[in-house]
Amino acid sequence: MQERQTKQKQIIYDALKTLNHPTATEVYAFVHNLYPTISRATVFRVLGGFASGGKALELRSAGSEVRYDYNVYPHCHGRCKVCDALVDVEVEGLPKTGIKATACDGFAVDGYEIEFFGTCKRCLEGKELRS
Ligand SMILES: [Zn+2]
Ligand SMILES: [Zn+2]
Repeated sequence: MQERQTKQKQIIYDALKTLNHPTATEVYAFVHNLYPTISRATVFRVLGGFASGGKALELRSAGSEVRYDYNVYPHCHGRCKVCDALVDVEVEGLPKTGIKATACDGFAVDGYEIEFFGTCKRCLEGKELRS
């Protein structure tokens, strides 16, 4: 049982690395294709475990499903306005210690996510082909 769980975790982690900032649903679809015995519940539970154990980041942005990132080093993201893909972006001018927020009205701040928007490489190349 223990061994099986370890193997499932490895499969799910590999999927996380292969896919680009996937949602849990996308990870499940990918994993299920290769290993039909792994259940949706397992994928969601394991991803949640990665996030709470510091093995993956949970990316939350308004109006979209939570996405997972195996790159746990603090970094910012860009979202493609055309296809909604998420990519890593390098940002200049952010303080090394991060940004500090003081909550108002008893709101408890857990973290933040800075998201830039633009057009991803794939969509840009698609545009060039059409014009
Ligand atoms: Zn795109
Ligand atoms: Zn990322």
